[in-house]
Amino acid sequence: MNPIGVTLIIATTLFPAYQLFTLPGVTDQVALFSQYLGLAALILMAWGQILSTRLAGVEAVFGGLDRVYVLHKWAGIVAMAAILVHDTVDAEMRGLGTETALTELAETLGEISLYGLLILVVLSVATFVPYHLWKWTHKAMGALFIAGAFHFVFIMKPFAMSDPAGLYTGVFCAAGILAYVWMLLPERMRPARRYAVAALDTTGDALAVTLTPKWRPIRAEAGQFGILSFAGSGQAEPHPFSFSGIGADGSLRVTVKPLGDFTTRLPRVLEVGQDVRVQGPFGRFRLTGKRAQVWVAGGIGVTPFLAWAEALAADAPDVHMFYCVKSRPAAPHLAEIEGIAAAKPNLHLHIVASGEGQRLSAQSIADKVGADALAACKVSFCGPTSLRRSLQTSLPRYGVSARQFHYEEFEFRTGVGLKRLAAWVLERRRDRPARA
Ligand SMILES: Cc1cc2nc3c(=O)[nH]c(=O)nc-3n(C[C@H](O)[C@H](O)[C@H](O)COP(=O)(O)OP(=O)(O)OC[C@H]3O[C@@H](n4cnc5c(N)ncnc54)[C@H](O)[C@@H]3O)c2cc1C
Repeated sequence: MNPIGVTLIIATTLFPAYQLFTLPGVTDQVALFSQYLGLAALILMAWGQILSTRLAGVEAVFGGLDRVYVLHKWAGIVAMAAILVHDTVDAEMRGLGTETALTELAETLGEISLYGLLILVVLSVATFVPYHLWKWTHKAMGALFIAGAFHFVFIMKPFAMSDPAGLYTGVFCAAGILAYVWMLLPERMRPARRYAVAALDTTGDALAVTLTPKWRPIRAEAGQFGILSFAGSGQAEPHPFSFSGIGADGSLRVTVKPLGDFTTRLPRVLEVGQDVRVQGPFGRFRLTGKRAQVWVAGGIGVTPFLAWAEALAADAPDVHMFYCVKSRPAAPHLAEIEGIAAAKPNLHLHIVASGEGQRLSAQSIADKVGADALAACKVSFCGPTSLRRSLQTSLPRYGVSARQFHYEEFEFRTGVGLKRLAAWVLERRRDRPARA
């Protein structure tokens, strides 16, 4: 996550506190605090909408899209908490004038927005809700944000909309609404490049799809991903996939593992020649050649590393790549990565096949790389979250700091750690000695 982006969100959310508490002649500080929380929630929700647009500048300011979605989630959760307190602490002030039908409507819409958002925020952090339903809860959230903005504009408050405090939050509301409207546009109206399916190849338990540009190709770097819409096959819902190959001729390759409904259906409906729309490139999972590296790929997490391996310069420092697979026959692009490693003396490939009883751990990485060398390495990871967490916990014992550990989330939708919390509580209960 880019600290500049996080600072920007925090600073812009705190600024109205300064605007409100310097208002002349306002004595009810408690109500003022509650009003500030209302403004802060609107600003955070506006950022949430802006972050989800996937517009070019968003990644530049906030970091890779996978982290942008994490920021988007937390902006929503903090906004929700602020609204709850805003609703609990009385924000009404005396002497602001008489109520009208409009101010009453604004009040009602504020309530609707509060309870609606409460339900939707809870639903949206529940990772068990199927993606296609979850997507709709997110769309509805934008409508509730508009209700919240209406509440802000027309409710009685100690400043006018033309005052700096009104204008400042008003601009955020307008930007958030514009971002929401942008997100409502049909996918075909979003900027994307047109490609055609050039080849379909089964590789291990995945399908490699090679795409050739119909006109101008996108300029992707090794490690980046696109959001693909297989429009020609009737499967137009856009899904993110890393580029497992980036051709000098503008061709791209993605490798898809059947992990759910869409990805299981895809091999049955894709045909050579069909149209594909590619949005992107996205992502900040980039190859840097400054120091020795360890790459850890888990299963289909190999895709960005395939592009990295191809792009690895002959004079780059040594790379130890650990490719964790269930079995060799099920490993996508195994022969290809072995071929690249054979041709590049600085790429040392280690296959870790769980089906053969092998397990990757910080210890086994240190055994291959050398404990001293490992402490100086940059470690890059793409694969299952459980493996990542286990390495993040154990690698610091070998001198690999959190700053040296980089990873790509293969999941835009992340929870708030409730499953982990429940597992931790259960584990503690299990470990507690039984009472006599
Ligand atoms: C940055 C990134 C790169 C990825 N690269 C690859 C890759 O190279 N190869 C590969 O096989 N997989 C990759 N994935 C994962 C792939 O996008 C999902 O497996 C796929 O979208 C699942 O769709 P489904 O409907 O088959 O599965 P479902 O069971 O419906 O979903 C499985 C999970 O995928 C997520 N998901 C589903 N639909 C979407 C969507 N439209 N947009 C975003 N997320 C969605 C959901 O959060 C869900 O938890 C990548 C994901 C990300 C975020």
